[in-house]
Amino acid sequence: MIIDGKEISKKVKDSLLPRIECLAKKGIVPGLAVVLIGDDPASKVYVSMKSKAFISMNLVSETFRLPADIDQGSVLSLIDDLNKSEKFHGVLVQLPVPDHLDSMEILQAIDPDKDADGLHPTNMGRMLLGIECPLACTPHGIIMLLKYSKIDTSGQHIIVLGRSNIVGKPIANLLIQKREMGNATVTICHTRTRNLKEITRQADILIAAIGKPEFVDRSFVKKGVVIIDVGVNRVDDPTSKRGYRLVGDVKFDEVKEIAGAITPVPGGVGPMTISMLITNTLYLAEKYETKRSEGI
Ligand code: NAP
Repeated sequence: MIIDGKEISKKVKDSLLPRIECLAKKGIVPGLAVVLIGDDPASKVYVSMKSKAFISMNLVSETFRLPADIDQGSVLSLIDDLNKSEKFHGVLVQLPVPDHLDSMEILQAIDPDKDADGLHPTNMGRMLLGIECPLACTPHGIIMLLKYSKIDTSGQHIIVLGRSNIVGKPIANLLIQKREMGNATVTICHTRTRNLKEITRQADILIAAIGKPEFVDRSFVKKGVVIIDVGVNRVDDPTSKRGYRLVGDVKFDEVKEIAGAITPVPGGVGPMTISMLITNTLYLAEKYETKRSEGI
């Protein structure tokens, strides 16, 4: 089975429409502010995709472009303004930011109640404890991909390749929660893991988030494995108009022959990340409306 992220993403977005209509009746249109710093081509593409998705659902999305040499204080000052703005219920800073900036301080400057990416330490802590909050978008998207594909995680041995703050750590934590789409036995692997293939071959579900083009080949997996390929890597391709093509962390053509289910790149995890960003912004707008109606 090829897990179609575009189709599932559409289903997720459709499921949000009644909630968006309900807010509209109260005069609220969920709004997202995106802060884009510098000229990284991939970041520009991601921001434009996010913005298009919001606009296609008649939601507000505005991008604040800052030069690559901006100083930390100016970024924090913009975030402070966005935190106070009534127009935006969600704020996100597109990562990575230029090296001279402190990304951790920037993420912490976002009001946790406007944290559209779900990466603020407060929300990471809530997620770990199982308290309702905006969840990190890519991990949440992976959970929804599995859920809509009717792949139960309970009791499964799930191997996560990669331990980043935005994918590896949060997805591992969501999968061990004692609730639906949790209850998995999770192993996290990284560059210091010994005998990597011996471990990955035990996976019922393998989530690859390492940023290494087509690193996972058939020798890493057992027959019937479910593969979630998070990686998005540009590789040179003179036959393509753009001069490159996108590949995942998994050798798709080879591994799909033995996998029970697999996500493609593009068209797998990527569209889900955007749907979960919309889900979070809507959730934050609903929280804002509840507080407003209670006069808080
Ligand atoms: P990251 O911050 O660079 O982290 C990569 C992780 O992979 C690190 O923990 C690293 O281990 C581990 N790793 C690297 N090479 C490895 C190897 N050979 N064996 C075992 N572990 C290895 O990456 P990220 O931000 O999580 O992103 C990972 C990939 O997902 C990238 O291609 C990124 O573009 C993609 N991504 C896609 C989406 C989407 O929406 N589709 C969203 C986010 C990210 P150490 O910790 O030991 O260095």
